[in-house]
Amino acid sequence: MKIVIVENPRPLTAEHYNDVANAPLSASLNCGYALAVARRAGWNTAYLDFTASNPDAASIAETILAEDADIVLLHWVYSWGHEELVRSILELLRRESAAKLGAFGLFPSLSPSCLLQFAPQLDFILAGEFEDTLAELLPLFAEHPTVAALPGVVLRSGKLVPRPLIADLSLLPVPDDVGANVGYTTLNIGASRGCYGECSFCFIHRYYGCSRRRARSSASLERELEVRLSRRDIGSLYFIDPTFIGQGEGERERVREIGRMAGRFGLPFGFETRVDTIDGELLATLAGLGATSVFLGIESGCDSVLQRIGKRISTGQIRRAVRAVRDSGIELHLGFIMFEPDSTLAELEENYNFLEEMGLLDDHELTANLLYHNQIVLHGSAAWERFGGEGRLLLDERLPFEARYRFRDGRVEQVCAAMGRLTSGYFSTMAGIMQNRSAAAEGCGAQNRTGDPDGTVNKLLKDAFRSLYRAAQTLQSQAVADVESEYAGRLSATFCCYPPVLCGN
Ligand code: SF4
Repeated sequence: MKIVIVENPRPLTAEHYNDVANAPLSASLNCGYALAVARRAGWNTAYLDFTASNPDAASIAETILAEDADIVLLHWVYSWGHEELVRSILELLRRESAAKLGAFGLFPSLSPSCLLQFAPQLDFILAGEFEDTLAELLPLFAEHPTVAALPGVVLRSGKLVPRPLIADLSLLPVPDDVGANVGYTTLNIGASRGCYGECSFCFIHRYYGCSRRRARSSASLERELEVRLSRRDIGSLYFIDPTFIGQGEGERERVREIGRMAGRFGLPFGFETRVDTIDGELLATLAGLGATSVFLGIESGCDSVLQRIGKRISTGQIRRAVRAVRDSGIELHLGFIMFEPDSTLAELEENYNFLEEMGLLDDHELTANLLYHNQIVLHGSAAWERFGGEGRLLLDERLPFEARYRFRDGRVEQVCAAMGRLTSGYFSTMAGIMQNRSAAAEGCGAQNRTGDPDGTVNKLLKDAFRSLYRAAQTLQSQAVADVESEYAGRLSATFCCYPPVLCGN
């Protein structure tokens, strides 16, 4: 028997240029685990990655058909408006093959019924944590080639019976190393699953069906490292756990132990964690053991917003955490939602002042990121239900599984849209600059302009943001449009030595 695991094509679109990843980082290991589970069940496996492929349904379907598999299992990640393309591929597979067609991962788990309706070619979906479901399904399928109605399997007929979470993560097989990650010298690895938080915008607790964090044993982590390090040259580790550090002294000691283990392998490491799990002492220890980067989802500089999104942290805790990271010498990366849907103009200003006070607006790329991110609403999320219930969802038939929403304050919406266009222009211009850097720099005699050595670009982005929310306070929409136009022109002029999108040269 053979299973082929397929990553769907998801071409980058201008609309989503600066949007946060369309699946949690932990999803980067989904295909590797699915392949390892299938082989452990005695199946032959193949992996096909069309993430960055040209959107040509016929040739993609042909490649999948050539595997002659009994099951085609699609790791269907939000494809930013290219869902129709995925459906066309499934249609071709359905026509040419008797293989059972399934989907798994975050997106199918959040929207199983809707996805089965959208793609009638799909036979089944593996909802939520899928490894145990797949491990039970494959031997049964080998006996009778039909997809059994097991817990965790969504069929067209019948209701989903949720599968209990894996009791001992240490028993999972070592995931295959596949996909884009293989091109990097950093190894993504999971030391725990889930999160005890319940932030309103997050998918983690929805995917696992609860707000619970499970850690695996250090011994199993070490075994996995030994296997995966023997496969290719690795220069560092990245723990993809939603929150690498849990609560309590036992957890703190556990991450110290993991740090010592990484040290034994001679590997620096990065991780993501909640603000309320760290302090100066722990970070200093982890830095000494080789921690080089940490991602903190601080989300807001306003206590009122933090409360609204259920983050369960305060700005005081964020301040302390950011300072502790800086003192430790570990590189800091941040998640921030500037435009939370219920924000007021005063909260935008509070956010801005917070970021400025914390010295987080000194680099143009970080500034562009922090001053723009809004919240995307994905089908099946709590936000979709809430905004749908409040009549605030703005649907677009080209994008069946995502939506924009009406802000509570229309002026915040205006500022958000204007900043979105300005930063989108900025990011596409920067990408163009990086691509054409040598030629462009030679053409205009500029040196290292992308580094913004005099801070001009950074200052323009900050001034644009402040001017926009001040213009919005005047209640004149033309005032906002005028500010946007002025700053688009000024950014364009600043970039005009290059072949950017903004200046159109
Ligand atoms: S702390 Fe992070 S991972 Fe946990 S629920 Fe909140 S956003 Fe999700």
